[in-house]
Amino acid sequence: MIPLPAPKPEVLARRAQIVAALQAIIPGDGVIGEALRLKPYETDGLSAYRQPPLAVVLPTSTEQVAAVLKYCNAQGIRVVPRGAGTSLSGGALPLADAVVMGLMRMNHIKTVDYENRLAVVEAGVTNLGITKHVEADGFFYAPDPSSQLACMIGGNVMMNSGGAHCLKYGVTANNLLGLTFVTVEGEVVQIGGNYLDAPGYDWLGIITGSEGQLGVVTEVTVRILRGPEGARAMLAAFDSIEVAGQAVDAIIGSGIIPVALEFMDRPCIHACEAFAHAGYPLDAEAMLIIEVEGNVEEQDRLLGWIKEICNRFNPISLKVAETAEESLAIWKGRKGAFGAVGRISPDYLCMDGTIPTGELPFVLKRIGEMSQSYGLQVANVFHAGDGNLHPLIMFDANNEASFHAAENFGADILKLCVEVGGCLTGEHGVGIEKRDLMPVQFTPLELDQMRAIKGAFDPQWLLNPAKVFPLEGNPIFATIPVLNAA
Ligand SMILES: Cc1cc2nc3c(=O)[nH]c(=O)nc-3n(C[C@H](O)[C@H](O)[C@H](O)COP(=O)(O)OP(=O)(O)OC[C@H]3O[C@@H](n4cnc5c(N)ncnc54)[C@H](O)[C@@H]3O)c2cc1C
Repeated sequence: MIPLPAPKPEVLARRAQIVAALQAIIPGDGVIGEALRLKPYETDGLSAYRQPPLAVVLPTSTEQVAAVLKYCNAQGIRVVPRGAGTSLSGGALPLADAVVMGLMRMNHIKTVDYENRLAVVEAGVTNLGITKHVEADGFFYAPDPSSQLACMIGGNVMMNSGGAHCLKYGVTANNLLGLTFVTVEGEVVQIGGNYLDAPGYDWLGIITGSEGQLGVVTEVTVRILRGPEGARAMLAAFDSIEVAGQAVDAIIGSGIIPVALEFMDRPCIHACEAFAHAGYPLDAEAMLIIEVEGNVEEQDRLLGWIKEICNRFNPISLKVAETAEESLAIWKGRKGAFGAVGRISPDYLCMDGTIPTGELPFVLKRIGEMSQSYGLQVANVFHAGDGNLHPLIMFDANNEASFHAAENFGADILKLCVEVGGCLTGEHGVGIEKRDLMPVQFTPLELDQMRAIKGAFDPQWLLNPAKVFPLEGNPIFATIPVLNAA
């Protein structure tokens, strides 16, 4: 790890001044300025990079958020909004001269309206917290990132997060109705409301996925759905990853939309089975988890069709979960996949790109070839039905060459996604991880138009400024401190 230089006295004096001003806005323990207490905030889910912030504020109300933003805007201080800090693209990574605004204390569910199937929740409510709150009444919140126990709805909105069950229900953007949004000037704005499709420009569409760069979300109105009568998962195992990719393509091409269609390759199957004991097929090169829902007749009919399609690709085995416990074990393995791969490699980079499902066999083959040529192992686990890839590139952060090879390998995978007609991001956002690859996907004009939107919301570029856009050659970023790799 490269040691960070000690802050200069003038930086410490300025920090003390800023912290005092922030404490006047947020009394009590809601402002952190001491180096040791800043440590938990110095990184996020992309833990290969770290950078302690200038200070952290933990507001408890929209009014406090507005007052902090107003002060920072007047003083020209940068602000990095933060939910749970689980971003895998470095979206919540602090800057040395920025205040991190943590929304985790705004964690109340304000209204549940079953009649209109919506809930109004504060930005710091966890994704799973919404479902837990309504499930006793037979409802749920559909988007289900694997990090759902920790990640917060404000972060989900800003990353437009997805999950295994988004194949049927759509991602965050498809399950949102409204936002309370605070501009960098400290103005509180209501976007959308309790109904579908607000009049005027699609502000909700612009703000969703904007990675904390346009304003701070303090409340979110989400759709809640009635839970299905039942659901059942099945496992389909194949002796080659390309063939498993072909089976995915055939299922999606047939017009059936399972609730979830997930893919795991051999390294991932072994890593997950070791802790989930879900009966994953250890002799397979690739495995699909396919879930359908409805009443028993509907489940049987859909599973019958899916089995028939899988049989065309000579599966090694097909196994339908017979009990709720078996289904749970199957999902325990899948949802814990990132942690499971963490047990078999000192470090890994989790890539996130999207491709047309018809390209799966080709792209998986190319990733295998790249793994050979870079000499780095890769485990594939991803939302196959949506064509959303998550190659986990294993490396050793203590070995600089290994780290750089992993970065280059990841960049090559993302370029390949664009080459085959896909996209640089699936659900993890751009953050710092993919900012320099943006020109692979977008023309200079398109990037300028996006920068113009950012500038219209945030003329001084104070909100999460070092993310999303390439740093190189952009004068607005001349003063951004270099981020330190761990
Ligand atoms: C083990 C693991 C599994 C994961 N699985 C998935 C998955 O299946 N699907 C998926 O989509 N993602 C997944 N992720 C990534 C991550 O959980 C999501 O991006 C999530 O939405 C981030 O939420 P957060 O609360 O942690 O936000 P943070 O990481 O704190 O922030 C994310 C971004 O949102 C901004 N932000 C946060 N809150 C606000 C706010 N209130 N107002 C304005 N800006 C804000 C931040 O500035 C940052 O740019 C996974 C991460 C991990 C570690």
